[in-house]
Amino acid sequence: MRNYRLLLPHLAVIAPANPDPGMWYPNCAVYAIFDAETLVLVDCGNHFATDSLDAALAALGLDTRRERVIVITHCHIDHSCGARVYAERYRILGCTRTADILLHHPNQVLYEEPEIIVPMPIEAFTPGDTLTFGGITLRTVPGPGHTDDSTIYDTMIDGKRCLFTGDLIMLPGGQLGWPGSMDYSLDKSRATLAWLAEQTYDLILTGHNMGGADSGKVFRAAMARIDG
Ligand SMILES: [Zn+2]
Repeated sequence: MRNYRLLLPHLAVIAPANPDPGMWYPNCAVYAIFDAETLVLVDCGNHFATDSLDAALAALGLDTRRERVIVITHCHIDHSCGARVYAERYRILGCTRTADILLHHPNQVLYEEPEIIVPMPIEAFTPGDTLTFGGITLRTVPGPGHTDDSTIYDTMIDGKRCLFTGDLIMLPGGQLGWPGSMDYSLDKSRATLAWLAEQTYDLILTGHNMGGADSGKVFRAAMARIDG
């Protein structure tokens, strides 16, 4: 069965499998933004599932792009750990806090078994920076809450404003993402949601499932959950 889907002419979502169905390590949704020369992945799944991701990229015809980049939304294993496999073939980027965690704090990447995490090479940017790769431009916005290093990527694809929001919320209902991080913050989640609810956008691309336009309703629903 296919594990990828084209969402726009230049945007695909891929659900990398885990090679061992018994393995509990989860995997995230990987988004591929591309043009003729450049491939940008938003997150890359864990390091057990890179074959599955590679197969999907080949099936989409995206594995031959000259410039290949991975941008990370936050440090958790299911979003970041494929980076150690891809480091030779891709540039890996994350915000300064994500870079620090991936290099020095394995316990924030995988709580239960931090000893299996090795430092991952990553280029750091300052949240708020605009990143340009070939013809693809991403604005980065700090999006703390789910973790302190969470970053939102804001970009135009095929005339649509797309917001990649990591694990801040889940869809379709605006449930909050996993609250178990040592730096999880409800107050920061609410502030990030308040910013998002003010935005005009076409697609929300969340870390584990994908949604469409709803004029901020889903972010307001998530805020209402916090406010009780
Ligand atoms: Zn997460």
